[in-house]
Amino acid sequence: MPTDRNTPLDRLIGARSGKKFAEQLGIATAGDLLDHFPRRYLTRGELTPIRELPLDEDVTLVAQVVSSSNRRMTSRKGSITEVLVSDRPGQTNGPSTLSLTFFNGYQAAKQLTRGVIAMFSGKVGLYRGKLQLTNPIYELLDPDEFDAEAAARMAGRPIPVYPATASIPSWTIAKAVGTVLGQLDLDSLPEALPPDIRLKYRLPRVADAYRMIHDPEDDGAWRSAQRRFRYEEALVLQTALARRKAQHAALPSRPSPARRGGLLEAFDRQLPFELTAGQQEVGEVLARELAENHPMNRLLQGEVGSGKTVVALRAMLQVVDDGGQAALLAPTEVLAAQHYASIRATLGPLVRDGLLGAGEDGVEVAVLTGSQSAGEKKRSLLAAASGQAGIVVGTHALLSEHVQFADLGLVVVDEQHRFGVEQRDALRAKSLATPHLLVMTATPIPRTVAMTVFGDLETSVLRELPAGRSPIATHTVGLVENPAWERRIWQRAREEVDAGRQVYVVCPTIGEGAGDEGDLDALDRATWGGTSLAAAPAPAPEVQPASVTEVAEQLGGEPELEGVRIGVLHGRLDTDAKATAMRAFAAGETGILVATTVVEVGVDVPNATLMVILDADRFGIAQLHQLRGRVGRGGHAGTCLLVTRLEPGHPSRERLGAVSASTDGFELAQKDLEFRREGDILGASQSGRRSTLRLLRVLRDGDVIASAREDALALVAEDPDLDGHVALADAIDDYLGPEKEVFLERG
Ligand code: ADP
Ligand code: MG
Repeated sequence: MPTDRNTPLDRLIGARSGKKFAEQLGIATAGDLLDHFPRRYLTRGELTPIRELPLDEDVTLVAQVVSSSNRRMTSRKGSITEVLVSDRPGQTNGPSTLSLTFFNGYQAAKQLTRGVIAMFSGKVGLYRGKLQLTNPIYELLDPDEFDAEAAARMAGRPIPVYPATASIPSWTIAKAVGTVLGQLDLDSLPEALPPDIRLKYRLPRVADAYRMIHDPEDDGAWRSAQRRFRYEEALVLQTALARRKAQHAALPSRPSPARRGGLLEAFDRQLPFELTAGQQEVGEVLARELAENHPMNRLLQGEVGSGKTVVALRAMLQVVDDGGQAALLAPTEVLAAQHYASIRATLGPLVRDGLLGAGEDGVEVAVLTGSQSAGEKKRSLLAAASGQAGIVVGTHALLSEHVQFADLGLVVVDEQHRFGVEQRDALRAKSLATPHLLVMTATPIPRTVAMTVFGDLETSVLRELPAGRSPIATHTVGLVENPAWERRIWQRAREEVDAGRQVYVVCPTIGEGAGDEGDLDALDRATWGGTSLAAAPAPAPEVQPASVTEVAEQLGGEPELEGVRIGVLHGRLDTDAKATAMRAFAAGETGILVATTVVEVGVDVPNATLMVILDADRFGIAQLHQLRGRVGRGGHAGTCLLVTRLEPGHPSRERLGAVSASTDGFELAQKDLEFRREGDILGASQSGRRSTLRLLRVLRDGDVIASAREDALALVAEDPDLDGHVALADAIDDYLGPEKEVFLERG
């Protein structure tokens, strides 16, 4: 049988090696290995003989370890590893030897043992009159190939450096790749890129690209190959999204054209404010799409307080005017209750109460949550199933099987990241025709991320905040450099309370009990689009993060706060306690609310003006930005204090600086992206599989993604089933696999 992509690797490199590759690198076939791209190339010019080393220059040399020793440093903590190398076999001292020094070079101490051959790169320095390299980077080389001829060949060509493990070094991988390249007929590999596209961007053919990425003649070769694979990745992804979008758009849905003289018009007449230009614009788009007989599929982004809910409510009323129903899904009970209350309040006289049966020209609003009494639930279920309720607000409870709708025309999902695909589909399944879908998120998503993660949704953005919103002043408070500020914070809280305002104190954890990770629900999922982007680098582990229970207790005994009533809110309270805490704070009965990130999303107490976030370094940028949006909503200026116990200059404090310096959510989202490892955008990094983006980087490759998207949309428009692009269709199946299909379904 000829070798192809699917040939098991052990047939080519032996059972033992094959097993190791499969277990440690997840590489099982020839194709897997071909797709295991070098992570970098050693290209630092010619190899320099040790005896000719120039001082103060960057050099690369190949040498063999003669001896190695390890000693503790006397003046500070740590160790020094000294390695003597020679590039003249047999010479162990003299002009062909060189000393390498590694500070805390644990790995070097382990790997660079006598007889080992490696390529070293670094800057030549002088120590006690002798040349040496300090902390050079190095790659272990195959001892069998250490001869003059191999060194010379390597000198001229870039050397690929593969992602490796301790027992499968880069050169072993390179060797295996060489074997595969030698056996496989590269020219028989299917070409996923359409020829016109390949020509348009001058990308190498697939066979050439594999050769160029694994065994490049020069730097230009691997660069060109990377360009091809990067573009291919973007095209595969975008074509998958475009196809999904097209398929979805072809489904039938219930058209709900705007009606004259209906609830929507009455609602607009009674609105106490003017819609912002953005709200009007988005409103028109939604009105148009709801009128079509194919489903709307739209993501609405807008900062907290930008007025998304009003926009959504108007869309719901258009559907209700047409005799349909709308469902609003909230991520938590607190939020569902709040949406229910605020929708009723906003609708005012337009709410019709089922029981009282007042008037015909109104809409009945029902709420369904897991914690309702059986009787309440039954009433809501009936209202939804009979069609009596035009608007049904709820949590996940809405998704359970026995919830039926008479005629569900629109699903609005608030803060989409808490909802997975199954849930979205469960709601859709409740209707014969596919309901229109509006997803709302307060977390700004950089354009290229949106294109990648939400490529199958159309996006709208509300950029401006309604007039009259006060800006939020944000300050980083470093307790290390200024411990006295702790007292000052509580004085500040006192001043707010005395002025009749209220204060949030946010803690990373709940407290009480080990293994407490705070409100995971909120903490881990404050994200852009379902990918866990909020996770902050872990700070010093010995510092216990502030917990709600302890801080509440501490504040109770704080002299500055004597007489101030303190409430507590976190995810482990039962529903009643949560509701009571929220109600007391909303009513101004408690001056200070100590809470976890449950206050992050949507909670609305306009009288709150100060937010103190303790151990703020535990939170991600997006999350901090959302949190502070809770204050300054009522026309009084808001202040947010980001309190940290990290040293000045600690990398995690950079994020606090960024949040203090900007109130522009989109700018912060971009920053956030720059701070984190980008490969994680598509999730699955924790699985350790090679299922994340390979070469494509969402931030760096924005242009590539944008062009690929354009190409993909055109391609799918012309050939929806990809009948004429079989290799591309196969590449999509291959690339996505079952796991990645999931992210495509997000939103
Ligand atoms: P979001 O859902 O985007 O956080 P909301 O729709 O809840 O924002 O609006 C936040 C607050 O601003 C609400 O009290 C709402 O009534 C008010 N609001 C919305 N649109 C406007 C507007 N155009 N002018 C003034 N206030 C507005
Ligand atoms: Mg909202």
